[in-house]
Amino acid sequence: MPKQIPVVDYLELGDTPHLTSRACSSCGALYFDRRNACAKCFGREFGRKDLSNQGTVRAFTFVHRVKRPYVSVIVDLDGGGVVKANLRGVDDPDAVTPRMPVELETYVAGTDDEGTEAVAFGYRPREEQGAQA
Ligand SMILES: [Zn+2]
Repeated sequence: MPKQIPVVDYLELGDTPHLTSRACSSCGALYFDRRNACAKCFGREFGRKDLSNQGTVRAFTFVHRVKRPYVSVIVDLDGGGVVKANLRGVDDPDAVTPRMPVELETYVAGTDDEGTEAVAFGYRPREEQGAQA
């Protein structure tokens, strides 16, 4: 298997790729970017939290002004965290609905001269059995 590196540092690869977030130690607010202080409680201590690979679409936008149109989504992750990413595996714009269940999907975005793969992430629709939230 070629060497792989994530395109963003909050994507953790391995057997089960997942996102991680910085979490405020006092109030639990989540941040993907580096913070000197929590925006909610001004706490200055941060830990790391593994985020769920499953969530639901909060909002979506169709991006048409490119050669290959795509769907940009904001996903509410189960158990906390909000992520903006592309929705993959959907060709029919009408198939995208608010509160649509999705799950994390990683893919190789590019390969450098040494064969190292850059791994990015997006979300794909999740088959759900039974109850809708
Ligand atoms: Zn805080």
